Amino acid sequence: APNTNLGQHFLKNPAVVTSIVAKAAIKPTDVVLEVGPGTGNVTVPLLEQAKKVIALEYDSRMVREVIKRVEGTPMENKLQVIQGDAIKIAWPFFDVMVANVPYQISSGLVFKLLVHRPLCRCAVMMFQEEFALRLTARPGEALYCRLSVNAQLLAKVDQLLKVGRNNFRPPPKVESRVVRIEPRNPPPPVNFVEWDGMVRLLFNRKNKTLRSVLMTKPNIKMLEENRRTHLSLSGKTGGDEEMKDTHSIEQIIEEVTGKDEWNGKRASKLDLDDFLQLLADFNSRGIHFA
Ligand code: SAM
Repeated sequence: APNTNLGQHFLKNPAVVTSIVAKAAIKPTDVVLEVGPGTGNVTVPLLEQAKKVIALEYDSRMVREVIKRVEGTPMENKLQVIQGDAIKIAWPFFDVMVANVPYQISSGLVFKLLVHRPLCRCAVMMFQEEFALRLTARPGEALYCRLSVNAQLLAKVDQLLKVGRNNFRPPPKVESRVVRIEPRNPPPPVNFVEWDGMVRLLFNRKNKTLRSVLMTKPNIKMLEENRRTHLSLSGKTGGDEEMKDTHSIEQIIEEVTGKDEWNGKRASKLDLDDFLQLLADFNSRGIHFA
């Protein structure tokens, strides 16, 4: 019986499987990474198109089942199955990823995909509807969040398909969607840790003004510590002498958030270019978010 704790909802509609495989646009030379092959409903058509499929599966029962399914066929030699938790184990090289995985690991999987090197050509992934919509949400929309800006900074994301609950056995509680994620290659020239530090802070209170989010005691303290760290890394001591003729963190926050472009603005309404410019404005004044 399917183990729904592991998100085992198997795709039973062949039309949806066909569509997922078609959207992955696999070439005969491609190595495909499939996360969560289950009983192999998607694995088999992938094997028909790819040079090789490497399947990562957590459940040893499913590992046996997918291997059994291709045993004695010409596809047998093209399939490699690795048993383990896709979030924890190291990924091999691959050109294209296909994944229909439990919704609890959606965000970990997307993040791992976007930091994986070398970058893959694209990923076709099934998600719970709301998660999928967050990935492509635009400024001003209710679902616009940290995930939206991070995903859109690092990849081009497209909605491909709505998949109703009844296409699965057993049906999950929520509707699903298939999206395509194409990592931007080369990645944008931004320090991602610092970018994410800023974005995380600002989306914590996405409907408050930038000034009021930043101008809190803990945040000012954090930015002061970051400034000291950056000064000492750049060879300056960050001691009292160095700090004397620089502006205080509060003064810099006032100055930047008071600029015409940022005055009264909130994270919920800023687009990618805004966030990039805002980060540059702070960095150029010695303010760092990591
Ligand atoms: N791809 C198959 C299909 O479409 O019919 C199965 C999809 S089912 C929603 C998800 C599969 O992911 C299950 O086989 C489950 O055992 C596996 N799985 C769950 N957590 C996993 C993890 N952390 N790493 C790898 N596989 C996982």
